[in-house]
Amino acid sequence: MNDIAVDVLIIGAGPSGCVASSYLKNNGISSKVVEKSKFPRFVIGESLLPRCMDHFEETGLLDCLMEQQFEIKAGARFLKDDIVCNFDFSKKHTPGWDYTWQVPRADFDHTLAKEIVKKGVDVSFGHEVTAVEFDENGHSTTTVKTEEGNEYKIRAKFIIDSSGYGRVLPRLLDLDKPSTLEANSAIYTHVKETERPEGVEGTLITFDVVKDEVWLWVIPFSNGNTSIGFVGPTEFIESFKGTNSEKLKEMLKISDYYYDRLKDLDFLFEPHIIKNYSKAVKQLYGKGYALTGNSAEFLDPVFSSGVTFATESGVKAAKLITKELNGEKVDWEQDYTGYIMKGVDVFRTYVSEWYTGNLQKIFFHRPENPVIKEQICAVLAGYVWDETNPFVKNHNRLVKTVAKVIDMENERAY
Ligand code: FAD
Repeated sequence: MNDIAVDVLIIGAGPSGCVASSYLKNNGISSKVVEKSKFPRFVIGESLLPRCMDHFEETGLLDCLMEQQFEIKAGARFLKDDIVCNFDFSKKHTPGWDYTWQVPRADFDHTLAKEIVKKGVDVSFGHEVTAVEFDENGHSTTTVKTEEGNEYKIRAKFIIDSSGYGRVLPRLLDLDKPSTLEANSAIYTHVKETERPEGVEGTLITFDVVKDEVWLWVIPFSNGNTSIGFVGPTEFIESFKGTNSEKLKEMLKISDYYYDRLKDLDFLFEPHIIKNYSKAVKQLYGKGYALTGNSAEFLDPVFSSGVTFATESGVKAAKLITKELNGEKVDWEQDYTGYIMKGVDVFRTYVSEWYTGNLQKIFFHRPENPVIKEQICAVLAGYVWDETNPFVKNHNRLVKTVAKVIDMENERAY
């Protein structure tokens, strides 16, 4: 293959790479997407947040997704013991989308990828980035290997690294750093549900807290399949013996709520295990590149923030690159790192406080406080930049304080 020169090279055609390339295309910037896999391909991350609808709308990718009729996610249910905590996205502090979808990612990502190709973005599937070199201006020369084993080079003024767990630039530039979150792991598969419960019970996304630090996700799709997965401390997941199927079958017994519904269903594929999934990096950008999506930070699946951060950062990086290529000055530290980390830090608090138990105290405390609930609901919908929301602005302090008040109330009651 001949060598290529583009303004922007995008590594990976997941949601992050797709929104970035679509934004660039709409704004007249030349880009090329290089994707290692052939689509459709499986990836985990099936519960979306309303905030990401803004990104698909802004980049012109919403209509193709609407046509797919994915299962509507209008909120989320959390269960613990006999207590149910239902969040309804139409009752949230911040204005914005009040629904999103539960999606089999193979279909979802394929829809996005086909749409960017239709828009005229140059995408090469089955092509893997293997090496990148930068010159002193930040211009790069990237080596790409095709499925047939041929190599070619791409010269680019910018790279958006949207390679997810491929983590191409963090690996090549030594940008990884340990996550500050506890070491957690997950085991998951899909099942075909032949006899789903009638009505909303059959389609509701649920997080079943089976132990303080261990929870089961149940994510029904509109195609009749359901994603199920356990998340917990790595040593908990490792304490189960046998094949991955045997481990997951055994774990299902811990869920009083779901065991009967799920126990006899065949797994559609041997369950996958991802160990110690939280990832962090030393920096989100450098001269000539930006890291987006999972290639940058991944916290935890508990609040389904992964895809939304992937699209938030993909659109943001594409906007800043467009500005810079149009001769405007960009303050990457403030406008990219500062902005993205603001949202990441809010979610990091919620994830940490979920596993300390403080947030669970608030979710499962009765009676519920409707104002607090709407403010937390806005965070769970992904609107984590809205500083009119005290649970965003004072995230660090407020979750702890409210949990403490609940503790004091409980002490007084006994
Ligand atoms: P991806 O979707 O992973 O896409 C990256 C693409 O880059 C891939 O297609 C890959 O093939 C390609 N690539 C990799 N290396 C190379 C290379 N060298 N050259 C070319 N291409 C390359 N998020 C949610 O929003 N909701 C959830 O419910 C949720 N659940 C999760 C559960 C678990 C257990 C885990 C671990 C994560 C979960 N996530 C969830 C997170 C979610 O998986 C990611 O945040 C999301 O997929 C990130 O999107 P992306 O576009 O950054 O990367």
